[in-house]
Amino acid sequence: MNAMYRSNGNYEAFARAAKPTKTEDISAVYLIGSGLASLSAAAFLIRDGRMDGSKIHILEELPLAGGSLDGRYKEEYGFVIRGGREMESHFECLWDLFRSIPSLEVEDASVLDEFYWLNKKDPNSSKCRLIHNQGNQVPTDGQLTLSEKAIKEILALCLTKEDQLDDKKITDVFTDEFFDSNFWTYWCTMFAFEKWHSAMEMRRYLMRFIHHIDALADFSSLKFTKYNQYESLVLPLLAYLKDNGVHFQYDTKVENVIVATKQGKKLADKLILTVEKQETIVQLAENDLVFVTNGSITESSTYGNSETPAPVSKELGGSWNLWKSMAEQDASFGKPEKFCENLPDSSWFVSATVTTLDEKIAPYIEKISHRDPYAGKVVTGGIVHATDSNWKMSYTLNRQPHFKKQPKDQLVVWVYALLSDTKGNYIKKTDY
Ligand SMILES: Cc1cc2nc3c(=O)[nH]c(=O)nc-3n(C[C@H](O)[C@H](O)[C@H](O)COP(=O)(O)OP(=O)(O)OC[C@H]3O[C@@H](n4cnc5c(N)ncnc54)[C@H](O)[C@@H]3O)c2cc1C
Repeated sequence: MNAMYRSNGNYEAFARAAKPTKTEDISAVYLIGSGLASLSAAAFLIRDGRMDGSKIHILEELPLAGGSLDGRYKEEYGFVIRGGREMESHFECLWDLFRSIPSLEVEDASVLDEFYWLNKKDPNSSKCRLIHNQGNQVPTDGQLTLSEKAIKEILALCLTKEDQLDDKKITDVFTDEFFDSNFWTYWCTMFAFEKWHSAMEMRRYLMRFIHHIDALADFSSLKFTKYNQYESLVLPLLAYLKDNGVHFQYDTKVENVIVATKQGKKLADKLILTVEKQETIVQLAENDLVFVTNGSITESSTYGNSETPAPVSKELGGSWNLWKSMAEQDASFGKPEKFCENLPDSSWFVSATVTTLDEKIAPYIEKISHRDPYAGKVVTGGIVHATDSNWKMSYTLNRQPHFKKQPKDQLVVWVYALLSDTKGNYIKKTDY
């Protein structure tokens, strides 16, 4: 396929992909999981691969699609979002995809048109990124406060080759001077980094988001959807795929992909599924395609509410177990245990969705964000971080309403904590 080819100028960007020669030989495509990775793979297969959508089967262990891109009303908890989702101009694949997906909100527009018009009219920015002493802006907010030594450490990391960073933590490549800077506070709260995380990952993010450095403090390079991403991105994508005849099979867990080796080539031979507690085997033909999402950051998440904390679960979900089962067959499938085992207690990411039922909290939000939270426009413009919070807490309010069925007098606030294994400032408890 030659779509998504980016070179100098736009000559190649706008040409359609030529039809691949082997599409007709493929009798079925199986996509494991229905997160954004699988849904977009299906859409690209249809648009650029000219695949007949009815050959595509999406197998999902949950009763609904979208994976981590959520936003749900749960009867027992109310509105729930597990992420705030910062987006930016250089999501090359995402925007390429959504330019072809019809909007469900605006007639005769694509999701990209809808998103672009919204963000043009109501551009994102934050007027207050760091607070302390119960909502007062930190005096140095807006500055990176990096010492010369800290700047050199950042440069040194960027110039280090990735193969020299194997098994290194962020603390192995930075000193306290770096960690004391606003740069680190902006960075770690924006991208959910903790000091024990991989130095290699930190380097990748530095290289990937280098163009955001001058907007780190005001988030002016970020963009957000109108509603939560389930409603603004997943639903239109599902509509497009269903219109094209794609099959969705929910409550279907893929336990293993049995791989056979033929003439030195690894071929997916069988899928082992659990459907309604029954084992089912799908025999694959030689040209069938199988796409696996290996690993997921949300699949073992648990829920709590004001009375009951979300229990910590160390159980691995479908994607990790599948990856492990595949890696047992052949070492070339990678090392899932690197990502899902021996995690420190500080690795539990806690987030909460707060829905305000009266107007008491709104003035406090307005005082910090300098915007009316009920105006239907950008409010905080990304996360606001409380620098004196033991749990390293931040909160954000996207454009309200954040859910289509959210009453106009309610606000949905997303709160998250990076260090919930330390005792909190008021309740003086850890999260477990
Ligand atoms: C708190 C939070 C904040 C985030 N913030 C941002 C952000 O600011 N910007 C950004 O770009 N991204 C952000 N992300 C990341 C983004 O949401 C994810 O990268 C993306 O949604 C992942 O999509 P995926 O399809 O790869 O995986 P997932 O969404 O995890 O989907 C995997 C799906 O596969 C299913 N599945 C797994 N194994 C099996 C199996 N064996 N059988 C059947 N089904 C299976 C799962 O149930 C799930 O539905 C954030 C994520 C979180 C959690």
